[in-house]
Amino acid sequence: MFQLPDDKQALRARARELAREVIAPRAAEVDRSEQYPWDNVRALTEAGLMGLTIPKAHGGPGGDFLDAALVIDEMAQACGVTGRIAVEANMGAISAVMHYGSEAQKRLAAQLVLAGDKPAICITEPDAGSAASEMSTRADKRGDHYVINGEKHWITGGGVSRLHLVFARVFDERGEEQGIGGFIAVRDETEGLVIGSREPSMGLRGIPETQVLFQDMAIPAAHVLTPPGGFRRGFAELMSAYNSQRVGAATVALGIADGAYRLALDYSQQREQFGRPICEFQGLQWMLADMSIAIAAARLMIHKAAAGANPFPDATEAAQAKIFASEMAIRVTNDALQVHGAMGYSRKLPLERMARDARMFTIGGGTAQILRTVVASRLLGRKLPQTRDGHRKLAARLSGAAD
Ligand SMILES: Cc1cc2nc3c(=O)[nH]c(=O)nc-3n(C[C@H](O)[C@H](O)[C@H](O)COP(=O)(O)OP(=O)(O)OC[C@H]3O[C@@H](n4cnc5c(N)ncnc54)[C@H](O)[C@@H]3O)c2cc1C
Repeated sequence: MFQLPDDKQALRARARELAREVIAPRAAEVDRSEQYPWDNVRALTEAGLMGLTIPKAHGGPGGDFLDAALVIDEMAQACGVTGRIAVEANMGAISAVMHYGSEAQKRLAAQLVLAGDKPAICITEPDAGSAASEMSTRADKRGDHYVINGEKHWITGGGVSRLHLVFARVFDERGEEQGIGGFIAVRDETEGLVIGSREPSMGLRGIPETQVLFQDMAIPAAHVLTPPGGFRRGFAELMSAYNSQRVGAATVALGIADGAYRLALDYSQQREQFGRPICEFQGLQWMLADMSIAIAAARLMIHKAAAGANPFPDATEAAQAKIFASEMAIRVTNDALQVHGAMGYSRKLPLERMARDARMFTIGGGTAQILRTVVASRLLGRKLPQTRDGHRKLAARLSGAAD
């Protein structure tokens, strides 16, 4: 655990070289142009880093989540957007399909991702953000297919991703609700999948965040991703695959923070004030020390969560790692900017971009508040309902148990 095995060190070295030689020089332009970095995607694809976690049986290299984390870390140190692409090409939706999918679904997903597609996961709706299970997108069964109607927003990769994993509330032919299911749709092949407007984002501007609309989108039953618990347990089981994506998001935050810290460490040794390099001032030495400590701690948490996956990272470890790394990245990127003084605030240097990019990770993929509830519910060994009704029922049950 503390010493990475040789094959993992070699993978990390390969990813580091690609990130530093190819990805880093393009990062400012990706941010400025707000264009999806297809060149970077091609470079990742050629290096076998898109679909790294796809098993050999389906044509992938058969890497694990720790391999993916090592690659994401290196990419994010150079470019947060490319780090996020590496997350979604190796974790989250693709992991759900490769674990729960039928043979045909796995073949379809593997083929797309290994050719360079970054899948999109469609959960959040305008009225169902943190309360994700209150989604209103519905899938009505009609013979051998489902008809899906609804609206998602903040979908990463809207308009560039082809494979979409769409979460919807399922109704049988009699109109009775069955639970929540995952539906596989392919942009440009599935009619009724419509890309809506793009959000103007604060950071990570090279990936579009868009609305995705479903207008009588017909999905054959063969494209329903059915976990063993069926639709009743569908949301919980599909979301367990999402714990991998949370570890991935934590890793992007870590990489961005580490990239910013390294710049601050260098700059503090170059820049002189009062006739001395600014690293000779204790005020900055302690900032640099604190940054390095937080980065090292986040990396250990991430590696533990990724290495312990069975088959997905543990929900508590994934939430803890994402909370810690995302909050750490906000602090570290701001401190690294501070070490650069006015130059940190200039768009000539990447610090301001890194601070904007880092800001996302306490929000997307489960907010830091919601994830604390996930951690607390595990610590206390019970669900912690957030609705008033659920809260009342739990209180009644607990007081009944106490009587
Ligand atoms: C850049 C980016 C990319 C994203 N990509 C995707 C994607 O690809 N697919 C997808 O489906 N979604 C995506 N999202 C959506 C993301 O998952 C949601 O933004 C997130 O779940 C929070 O929902 P919300 O924004 O509606 O906030 P809200 O749920 O409205 O929350 C507002 C505030 O209230 C707090 N809050 C809410 N409920 C509670 C509670 N019970 N206890 C304590 N605090 C609470 C929240 O923590 C937050 O601070 C993305 C978001 C961003 C910013």
